[in-house]
Amino acid sequence: MREWKLAVLPGDGIGPEVMSLTVELLEQVAREEGARLEMNECLVGGAAIDAEGTALPASTLEACRASDGILFGSVGGPKWESLPPKEQPERAALLPLRKEFHLFANIRPGLLYPELVPASPLKSERIPEGIDIVCIRELTGGLYFGQPKDTVTLENGEKQSRDTMVYRTSEITRIAEVAAKTALGRSRRVCSIDKANVLETSVLWRDTVTRFFAEHYPEIELSHMLVDNAAMQLAGNPNQFDVLFSENLFGDILSDEMAVICGSLGMLASASLGEDQNRHGHPFGLYEPAGGSAPDIAGKGVANPCAQILSGALLLRHSLGEEAAATRIETAVRRAVEKGTRTGDIAFEVEPVGSSAMLAAIRAEL
Ligand code: NAD
Repeated sequence: MREWKLAVLPGDGIGPEVMSLTVELLEQVAREEGARLEMNECLVGGAAIDAEGTALPASTLEACRASDGILFGSVGGPKWESLPPKEQPERAALLPLRKEFHLFANIRPGLLYPELVPASPLKSERIPEGIDIVCIRELTGGLYFGQPKDTVTLENGEKQSRDTMVYRTSEITRIAEVAAKTALGRSRRVCSIDKANVLETSVLWRDTVTRFFAEHYPEIELSHMLVDNAAMQLAGNPNQFDVLFSENLFGDILSDEMAVICGSLGMLASASLGEDQNRHGHPFGLYEPAGGSAPDIAGKGVANPCAQILSGALLLRHSLGEEAAATRIETAVRRAVEKGTRTGDIAFEVEPVGSSAMLAAIRAEL
């Protein structure tokens, strides 16, 4: 019997609400697929700070290590905003998890169904069929982690800070490989984003990516684009891209831009894949909605559970190799939305439903 062993970290705000619905759905899918599902639910973020004084308790980390992949909710909220930056739920929980599991590739599908086009700030003429692209961001290198990184006081009394953008070829090829594999399951087009007209790291990036694709994936159509142009093109004609990928900072900004044009954070899932493989021979990963803990709607039963549910589908696909089960979930979400069951964030000309009714409609389509 197939075994799916998940660490389930609901977190704060809407996290526990949408996670409990996702757990119900995964239980149904496992039953129907004949898989044994073991879920170890643990505290993380503000909830863990309140209960145990730390955003990532040792027991949570241990449960993650023992799992095939992590299903993460969202962390943070007003209650913990006055804590010192290093103790803030996001920084003190997510960054150590990324570090511990060497999560180097963030994959964000940017999917906007045709029915939800009015949710996008883009004019509907630009995206009559919606949006269907994938944004991949390198997650462990570049300016965020490069050394030296410091602030000094100069002789004249002013302060000076520096961050360092560093990339080595192996870091570039491993994210290029994630982009290539993603493109193979789609229309085999990849656009690599850089700033090769100015940055030394981007010159190496472009050169390495070009060689890598020529040598290993000649069947994929590779193009390059400068990041400033990519930001404009995303807002003007997003569907010219299929898979786009970039270094850490550019990817941080572009993936958020993509989230905005795709309408609601309530629909967007993400996967962060690690270097290490789990016991099934698939990449270990952390899967979470693109949005945060949404304190403005937490506790009201109106949050859209789709992003969390679709994150569960990504976990099944990438960390468990369960493509069919993942597609079943994605199709069920799509059909439920198509038929007009929608939470407030995506309700246009239809009466919005609550989170539980949204789940019920998705389960009915499974
Ligand atoms: P947010 O993503 O939580 O909310 C932004 C807007 O999107 C809000 O109006 C919210 O209601 C809406 N939204 C988000 N998810 C939704 C869903 N599933 N259904 C319906 N509407 C949804 O961003 P924010 O308000 O800037 O941040 C709130 C808290 O979340 C902060 O403490 C922030 O640090 C934290 N945060 C955590 C993560 C994470 O856990 N990875 C990511 C981003 C923000």
